[in-house]
Order: sequence, then C-alpha cells, then structure tokens
Amino acid sequence: MAGPQQTPLVEVRRSTRRRRTVAAYREGERVVILMPSQFSRAEESAWIDKMLARLEAKESRGPRSDDALTARAGQLAARYFGDHGTAAVPAGVRWVSNQRGRWGSCSSDERTIRLSDRLRDMPAWVADYVLIHELAHLIEPNHGAAFWRLVGRYPKTERARGFLEGVAAVAGDAYAED
Ligand SMILES: [Zn+2]
Repeated sequence: MAGPQQTPLVEVRRSTRRRRTVAAYREGERVVILMPSQFSRAEESAWIDKMLARLEAKESRGPRSDDALTARAGQLAARYFGDHGTAAVPAGVRWVSNQRGRWGSCSSDERTIRLSDRLRDMPAWVADYVLIHELAHLIEPNHGAAFWRLVGRYPKTERARGFLEGVAAVAGDAYAED
C-alpha cells in the first residue's frame, strides 16, 4: 500500500542459465531478484533499484479485471463491514467506461456496483475508497451521518476524497461520488 516504505531485504540469486532476463518476487520478508551471473556489480546495483521500483509499482496498482474487482470488494466488505454480516457484500462489481460524472454507483435493488475505469490507473487505496463508499450504500442508501460513520471506518477516506477532488479539478470535470 501507499506510504513510506523501508527498503526491503534483497537477495540476489545469480544464474549461469540466465542470459539477459531479470525477475523479482517476494519471498516472505525478502525480495528475491534473479539475474544472469555475468552481470557486473554496477549492473546488479542498477537492476536492484529498477526491479524494486517495478515491484512496488505493480503492487500499488489495484484490481484490473471485473473478477479481481469483485474479489477486492468482498475483502473490503468483510474487513470493514463484517459486523453487518453479508449486508455489504455485493452481487457483482464491474468496471465501466460510460460513467461520466461519477466515480462509482450502486444499484440497491440488484446489489451491484459499478466503478469508473478511470480509477484503474489511480493508486489502489483510491479505488478502495470508492468501493468502500459504494459498499456502505448497500447498508445506508443515503448520505446521512450513519453512512459517513461507515465510510469513516476506512482510514484513508479523507485522503482519497481529497485525491479525487484534485483529479476532478485538474481535469475540469465535475465529478461526484455517488
Ligand atoms: Zn454516495
């Protein structure tokens, strides 16, 4: 997730079978980086920086597919609204591109949620906020005090709302969180 991160422990594994390809993955607390054995120390150091940045970028992105988005919504519903049983678990969540003017919307009857695909390229914690907002509508349809108390359980709510206001202002759009 976002925020200052400590430099992870890095373990470089060199392989004579690797020619040019470098790969990185997490293994517990460590990041393992596989690289060709003939790389120089300078190349090794440059690749470590590059692969850590790439890994962090990959991990900071949110769900890409509708299935991944639905799974994420289920996780968030359990984590933040678990005390409401399955009341905040949606029937389905979809990315949509025709949602001008809205970051997200929720159909209480069908219990489905749609998110603007513009959120896909924003940090994962911003899309998570919009999901939280729409999940909370499954419990509280209106924007009353009870609704905002639910939404406020997500610790990055204020930060995400500020982020989205900023994006809308830069784009000159009137975007609303519905
Ligand atoms: Zn709303």
